Amino acid sequence: MGYQNFKTAVYVTVRDMEWIAAHPEFEEKFAFLEKHIHLDKVYLETYRGQRLIEKEKVLKIKEIFTNKGIKVSGGITTDLSSSWEFQSFCYTKQDHLDRLREIVAYTAELFDEIILDDFYFTNCKCESCIRAKADRSWSEFRTERLKEVTEEIIVKTAKRTNPRVNLIIKYPNWYDDYQSVGYNLREEPLLFDKIYTGTETRDPRYTQQTLQRYLSYFLVRYLENVKPGGNGGGWFDTFDCKYNLGSYAEQCCLTLFAKAREVTLFCLGTLLLRDSIFVSIAGYVFEQVDKFLNELGNPVGIPCYKPYHSSGENYLHSFLGMLGLPLEPYPEFPSGKGLLLLTASAAKDELIVERI
Ligand SMILES: [Zn+2]
Repeated sequence: MGYQNFKTAVYVTVRDMEWIAAHPEFEEKFAFLEKHIHLDKVYLETYRGQRLIEKEKVLKIKEIFTNKGIKVSGGITTDLSSSWEFQSFCYTKQDHLDRLREIVAYTAELFDEIILDDFYFTNCKCESCIRAKADRSWSEFRTERLKEVTEEIIVKTAKRTNPRVNLIIKYPNWYDDYQSVGYNLREEPLLFDKIYTGTETRDPRYTQQTLQRYLSYFLVRYLENVKPGGNGGGWFDTFDCKYNLGSYAEQCCLTLFAKAREVTLFCLGTLLLRDSIFVSIAGYVFEQVDKFLNELGNPVGIPCYKPYHSSGENYLHSFLGMLGLPLEPYPEFPSGKGLLLLTASAAKDELIVERI
């Protein structure tokens, strides 16, 4: 029987797909995960790092999971790099746009639901992008361009190929910088059927992002208020969590306390082949938290205003959250709430003084 208060999913990367296809003993390995976690869904990735996986492999793997009663959805990672170089597509070059259209059509034929992993940004500064940017700032150009690409290429292609398709965009954990590389939080959530939250906080001190744990809760709440009822879930991974196994359990708890509807664990290969200790930790947290999650009601906190496309003191909210201040963030000015927390990002709103 599944959990009462949330659904679970595991993301299966292209590399994991290749591994499953090449290893008939996969199901024995997978039994370990099934022993600890009741799994509702897998996201099967078709494209990442210039690798598009063959249809016959996708169909075979879909069947393996469907036979187990596990729902199958698709996944796409719009990344061109072979490792972790974060090389985005160029959204002004015709051959890149054509490739994207082809990947989306291919995936929409195979699945009724597709999630985009959080590489749907652009850091391209080629001659063609500089020309297209013209007098605009990089943020203006990129957010406008990605909105057009979402409408014209992703949504149109996917819906034309499969009118039933449910499109989800996963947002990264670096919320203060979305706009600088084209994540358009104001307009994209209106174009996608659902959004999704990256709740990876990992090691808060000795990693490149130094994210505070509270972010695993805060960002789910922010995105829930960006698209009420349309935040599909929270997603975290095992990376940089070995310094303290409790850190993984905390990512999981906070994602659930924020009332994520679904929890996605990234990714199957890592969970089965490298970091399997985390499988039992996730299973334990799911079981324990599910016992009381329905008693918690809806999250409440000090209303906090972080306007669309704003930035300020990086991750200050999460530091305040760690001090024990409960926050409920909104992208629109939360009128009539009495108490309100404003950080520097609120200054993005030109009417902020009047509103106060
Ligand atoms: Zn470019």
